[in-house]
Amino acid sequence: MDAALFRAINGVSGPWWDSVMALVTTPSSWYPAMAILAVWLVYKERGRGAVALISAMAAVGIGDALGYHVLKALFARARPCVDLPDVRILVGCGDAFSFPSNHAINSLAVAGALGYFFRPLLWGLVPLGLLVCLSRVAVGAHYPSDVVAGAVLGFAIGGSVAWGAARLWIHKFGGRGGRKAVFLDRDGCVNVENDHIRDIAQFQLYSDSAKSIKRLNDAGYAVVVITNQSGVARGYMTEELLREVNALMLKQISEGGGRIDRVEYCPHHPEGVVKKYAVECDCRKPRPGMILRAGMALGLDFSKSFVVGDKISDIELGPATGMKAILVRTGFGERDLGKINKGEATAPDFVASGIKEAVDWILGSAHK
Ligand SMILES: [Zn+2]
Repeated sequence: MDAALFRAINGVSGPWWDSVMALVTTPSSWYPAMAILAVWLVYKERGRGAVALISAMAAVGIGDALGYHVLKALFARARPCVDLPDVRILVGCGDAFSFPSNHAINSLAVAGALGYFFRPLLWGLVPLGLLVCLSRVAVGAHYPSDVVAGAVLGFAIGGSVAWGAARLWIHKFGGRGGRKAVFLDRDGCVNVENDHIRDIAQFQLYSDSAKSIKRLNDAGYAVVVITNQSGVARGYMTEELLREVNALMLKQISEGGGRIDRVEYCPHHPEGVVKKYAVECDCRKPRPGMILRAGMALGLDFSKSFVVGDKISDIELGPATGMKAILVRTGFGERDLGKINKGEATAPDFVASGIKEAVDWILGSAHK
């Protein structure tokens, strides 16, 4: 872009334009904004906020290394920058410009990484990143195609780094510093155990489930329902029906004033008759797949969390993940308590009559 065209598009290079350009295009002007965002993220959720920030910084570092050194060495393509010396300094132009745009990589890498952990941030960060991209094209620092390539690459790097960081944090460090949570089994704990719930009419909440879940919400616990539904693999019901039943549960709980933050189910069974689901999976309890998935999605700290269920397979999740485990006597609870008392399985930390008493115990001051 030549100077005349630059001036024609942008008006005379006056103070207002300098200010806008300085705000949008120079990375250093992002630092105060990033600092405010950092404080907010860590204030909002200490553990997840910190991991999100580390991910964003790592993504920018990787993006820079890739954009500046690797790709530039491979695909360097020089382009003259705007020839107004003041603008040139302002927008940080060097002598030559390359594929891809490092500004585009960096701004979208931040959006991808932070947006992975805090979805609503995408609505602010992606437009802001695109504005940066646009400004790089407007000042003639990059070809539009280089900016698009940089944006896509940056977003992919940010998202991948965040996913990797979340996985490492939850799988290897148990989500230390994250939110506390209560994992509830579904059938026999939240609702009446009734032969795999093959029909939506069989679904019936326990009378104190919604209120008990509301008490957990109010105490700041994330509430996650984790349920083995091998009936899908066995051909008793379809996955669609299972989803409908789960939706009914969410609706009835919310009508009762409670909130379930997430539902995880395992439709698999190694001896199932429906081929798609007849697999040895990592999510069928007592395997911890569902807990790890929910932990990654919500940023949960297992050392501060509880698991509640009516089966030995629920109780075994406690020692496996560092959570305290509570057996409820509802559903198969009495039957499995018999096995536990005979020494056939690990004992829970507490035995409750039902979900209400389990929540009483969780909220008891001795265990905070
Ligand atoms: Zn599974």
